[in-house]
Amino acid sequence: MRFVSGKASDYAGRFRAEPDNREVLFDLYDVTYSRGGKVVLTDVRARLPVGASSLLGPSGSGKSTMLRLLNRLADPDSGEVLYEGRDVRDYDPLLLRREVSLVPQLPALIDGTVHDNVAYGPRLAGRSFNARNCLELAGLDPEFENRDAAKLSVGEQQRVMLARALALEPRVLLLDEPTSALDQTARDAVEGTLRRLRARTAISLVVVTHDIAQARRLSDYVVRIDSGRVVAQGPAAELLAQPEEPELATAEDAT
Ligand code: ADP
Ligand code: MG
Repeated sequence: MRFVSGKASDYAGRFRAEPDNREVLFDLYDVTYSRGGKVVLTDVRARLPVGASSLLGPSGSGKSTMLRLLNRLADPDSGEVLYEGRDVRDYDPLLLRREVSLVPQLPALIDGTVHDNVAYGPRLAGRSFNARNCLELAGLDPEFENRDAAKLSVGEQQRVMLARALALEPRVLLLDEPTSALDQTARDAVEGTLRRLRARTAISLVVVTHDIAQARRLSDYVVRIDSGRVVAQGPAAELLAQPEEPELATAEDAT
């Protein structure tokens, strides 16, 4: 990290491209977070570029917590989180969450049709949307629009969650273990959807995963977390070029 002065916000004025020429999307500076007397994140310094990044680490390492800091579903006890060079606390939380949208680990759909679910956010926000386009971008046949959401497979529900997030035209999608509840076929489908999304839109992705191979498939920048600390970060091609470490390979085998 090359912070010139003491705080990330001092650095924000010099917000600029990284050496690999990608702009910085998120900057976490000395972030500490505790809950229930337990330190969850310690002195986290991380920088996520525009594009697709992974937060990679074993279960319980603090990945979901770190993801939630990015759109203020959680706030650090100390330290700073910058989005596009500005402290996230300077944004209206609702507008921030519309722009930086979190797709949770397990689908949580409302009762009703797929259309009802995709329409939910835009209606609350008083915005127009095109459900069929969102479904198509999320890798679902637009004919799904009138299906009962409760009758879909988990993989399909996960893609409806994605369509629901897309309906608010986010600039960043935060994806918390998007395939952890899925079998391999559904996982491949969701990963394919995310790769197409990258190819067809300018939406940045931050993907939480415990699976090194998935981080390699889905992202080009990786932050590795262990026990609430950042242990490595950099371009995926450099960071994940080594043979997989046994303890993470085990976690991966378990899915
Ligand atoms: P991961 O997503 O990597 O599995 P989490 O960010 O969910 O990890 O959690 C990291 C650690 O923090 C875990 O040990 C978890 O039990 C603890 N933790 C997270 N949120 C809370 C909370 N609200 N209250 C108590 N403990 C929490
Ligand atoms: Mg988690």
